[in-house]
Amino acid sequence: MSQGDKERNKNTLTTEAGIPIPDNQNSLTAGKRGPTLMQDHFLFEKLARFNRERIPERIVHAKAAGAHGIFTVTNDITKYTKAKIFSQVGKKTEMFGRFSTVAGEKGSADTVRDVRGFALKFYTEEGNWDMVGNNTPVFFVRDAMKFMDFIHTQKREPQTNLRSPSMWWDFWSLVPESLHQVTILFSDRGIPAGIPHMNGYGSHTYSFINANNERYWVKFHFKTLQGIKNFMDEEGARLAGEDPDWTTRHLFETIKKGDFPKWKLSVQVMPEIEAENYRWNPFDLTKVWPHGDYPLIEVGIMELNRNPENYYAEVEQSAFSPANAVPGISFSPCKMLQARILAYADAHRYRLGVNYEMLPINRPRADVEVRNYHRDGYMRFDNNGGASPIYEPNSFGGPTEDPSYNEPPLKISGDADRYEQKRGVDDDYIQPGNLFRLMKKDEQQRLVKNIVGTLKTTPKNIQERMVKHFLKADKDYGHGVAVGLGLPVG
Ligand code: NDP
Repeated sequence: MSQGDKERNKNTLTTEAGIPIPDNQNSLTAGKRGPTLMQDHFLFEKLARFNRERIPERIVHAKAAGAHGIFTVTNDITKYTKAKIFSQVGKKTEMFGRFSTVAGEKGSADTVRDVRGFALKFYTEEGNWDMVGNNTPVFFVRDAMKFMDFIHTQKREPQTNLRSPSMWWDFWSLVPESLHQVTILFSDRGIPAGIPHMNGYGSHTYSFINANNERYWVKFHFKTLQGIKNFMDEEGARLAGEDPDWTTRHLFETIKKGDFPKWKLSVQVMPEIEAENYRWNPFDLTKVWPHGDYPLIEVGIMELNRNPENYYAEVEQSAFSPANAVPGISFSPCKMLQARILAYADAHRYRLGVNYEMLPINRPRADVEVRNYHRDGYMRFDNNGGASPIYEPNSFGGPTEDPSYNEPPLKISGDADRYEQKRGVDDDYIQPGNLFRLMKKDEQQRLVKNIVGTLKTTPKNIQERMVKHFLKADKDYGHGVAVGLGLPVG
């Protein structure tokens, strides 16, 4: 091919099969005014591709912004974990983050009161570590059995297709373990003024395993170095109308300006033995570990410094799973985590297809080779293992297990049964009360006002049930909500 031909071909529009297209404006018709010919396969290719441009939207966390970045270790935590990402102070690891609202659809407004997803993928040399967290340290429920019902309350009513405060408050009033997260959600932090201005938390308890094969329980905290900033209800509502994509735009423009947002990663670490008698069930996702008991230990700095080139390829196709934990970082008995280990990868297999980990944004970086006996499936776009064996054990070579990656055995006891995780009658109320009491007076007042704003639209029996919960957390909290609702204070 001559140089001239090559240059011309570089810009020539083609079909999916690489065939040059002579006309992209006029479809092929039988005569000047006649019907379109079936032979215009490029027109049909365009129509058919267009019909298939959407993949299933995530049921939760559909609306998001994302960015690439770097994680740098600033403090030695190798006595707790052998994870290579933390192996040396100064070590840098590439990462990608996706930050979302939870309940709204893909086109919904950003500046609404909702939990924010804080999903991170670290491309480590021993595979990808996904930290699929939120901007809150706790969650509404602590048993996955309740999760689907809870999410239904955040979605739309079956008849009207409207969102419904009655569904929210009805569920929360009947599931008091949600009170802690409800208190955070309706506090000032319920509408972050931009992704750079919110914290991220691993929320679940995870584990660290060190080089001596000792296990520690761990919680991850990513604290914003830009400072917490929030929108008040009125500002959030105004922006939701005027600029529904405010948060997405803000992150993109902040990074474009070179104003790279940073977070300090710290961990709380609990020796395995202490979990047995700690005052809180350390695996209960509705609880924090008070900092006074387990202080934050600095680990490193995460910086977001590169916008995606293509939203669909990088943000929409990114897929995170708590199952992606690298050697040195592992799971805990948290019932919600256990279910997420299964459910996230399962959601991606449905949404993106069984080979979703091969997509460029999800696959491990260059120095990690993926070796296994998984084959075939929709959209297998590498060489599918070529001629190599497709089973193990085999006599022809291929990847084999490495027992040095075994984790220390986990001691368990008791009978298999369906256990409620509560440890005491007051367990669902102390921590929400602590949070209320650490708020300044004006923040307490806004919390109450934000709650009353939607709770007042629900049936009276739901309001009364909620007031009882708020009263149990803190007298002033319950009193404030009761007065706001015009209910007698018990
Ligand atoms: P501390 O005083 O040591 O910590 C209080 C924490 O509360 C800080 O991390 C602070 O975050 C955070 N905070 C302040 N206002 C809000 C808010 N409106 N929503 C969510 N978090 C907020 O106390 P304890 O560790 O004893 O915890 C007391 C209460 O603080 C807990 O019951 C819990 O509700 C809340 N909390 C605790 C966390 C933990 O891991 N211990 C983490 C987050 C919240 P910052 O420093 O960024 O301002």
